[in-house]
Amino acid sequence: MKFLLVFLVVLVIAWRWRAWRESAQRGNRNAKVGDASAAEMIPCHQCGMHLPANEAIAGKLGHYCSQEHRLKVEP
Ligand SMILES: [Zn+2]
Repeated sequence: MKFLLVFLVVLVIAWRWRAWRESAQRGNRNAKVGDASAAEMIPCHQCGMHLPANEAIAGKLGHYCSQEHRLKVEP
Protein backbone atom coordinates (compact mmCIF):
# COMPACT_ATOMS: atom_id res chain seq x y z
CA MET A 1 0.00 0.00 0.00
CA LYS A 2 2.83 2.36 0.94
CA PHE A 3 4.62 1.50 -2.30
CA LEU A 4 1.52 2.39 -4.31
CA LEU A 5 1.33 5.78 -2.57
CA VAL A 6 4.99 6.56 -3.34
CA PHE A 7 4.48 5.44 -6.93
CA LEU A 8 1.48 7.76 -7.31
CA VAL A 9 3.39 10.72 -5.84
CA VAL A 10 6.30 10.14 -8.24
CA LEU A 11 3.87 9.83 -11.16
CA VAL A 12 2.15 13.11 -10.26
CA ILE A 13 5.51 14.92 -9.87
CA ALA A 14 6.73 13.57 -13.23
CA TRP A 15 3.47 14.62 -14.92
CA ARG A 16 3.57 18.10 -13.39
CA TRP A 17 7.26 18.49 -14.34
CA ARG A 18 6.54 17.49 -17.93
CA ALA A 19 3.62 19.92 -18.20
CA TRP A 20 5.80 22.69 -16.74
CA ARG A 21 8.64 21.91 -19.14
CA GLU A 22 6.31 21.93 -22.17
CA SER A 23 4.81 25.28 -21.18
CA ALA A 24 8.30 26.70 -20.57
CA GLN A 25 9.41 25.56 -24.04
CA ARG A 26 6.28 27.08 -25.57
CA GLY A 27 7.04 30.34 -23.75
CA ASN A 28 10.61 30.37 -25.09
CA ARG A 29 9.38 29.78 -28.63
CA ASN A 30 6.93 32.69 -28.34
CA ALA A 31 9.68 34.93 -26.95
CA LYS A 32 11.91 34.04 -29.91
CA VAL A 33 9.11 34.86 -32.37
CA GLY A 34 8.59 38.17 -30.58
CA ASP A 35 12.30 38.98 -30.78
CA ALA A 36 12.38 38.18 -34.50
CA SER A 37 9.52 40.56 -35.29
CA ALA A 38 10.96 43.26 -33.01
CA ALA A 39 14.37 42.93 -34.71
CA GLU A 40 12.86 43.49 -38.16
CA MET A 41 13.83 47.08 -39.07
CA ILE A 42 12.08 49.06 -41.79
CA PRO A 43 12.97 52.53 -43.12
CA CYS A 44 10.72 55.57 -42.76
CA HIS A 45 9.30 56.57 -46.15
CA GLN A 46 9.93 60.27 -45.40
CA CYS A 47 13.31 60.50 -43.63
CA GLY A 48 14.72 57.00 -44.15
CA MET A 49 15.29 56.38 -40.45
CA HIS A 50 15.14 52.67 -39.61
CA LEU A 51 12.78 51.63 -36.84
CA PRO A 52 11.25 48.36 -35.60
CA ALA A 53 8.36 47.24 -37.80
CA ASN A 54 6.00 47.02 -34.81
CA GLU A 55 6.63 50.70 -33.96
CA ALA A 56 6.24 52.01 -37.51
CA ILE A 57 3.13 53.88 -38.62
CA ALA A 58 1.61 52.40 -41.76
CA GLY A 59 0.58 54.78 -44.53
CA LYS A 60 -0.72 54.37 -48.08
CA LEU A 61 2.74 54.77 -49.63
CA GLY A 62 4.84 53.08 -46.96
CA HIS A 63 5.79 53.08 -43.31
CA TYR A 64 6.75 56.13 -41.25
CA CYS A 65 8.61 56.84 -38.02
CA SER A 66 5.93 59.27 -36.80
CA GLN A 67 2.53 60.73 -37.65
CA GLU A 68 4.26 64.00 -38.61
CA HIS A 69 6.26 62.32 -41.35
CA ARG A 70 3.20 60.42 -42.57
CA LEU A 71 1.26 63.71 -42.86
CA LYS A 72 4.18 65.40 -44.69
CA VAL A 73 4.02 62.78 -47.46
CA GLU A 74 0.30 61.97 -47.30
CA PRO A 75 -1.56 65.15 -46.34
ZN1 LIG B 1 10.64 59.71 -40.55
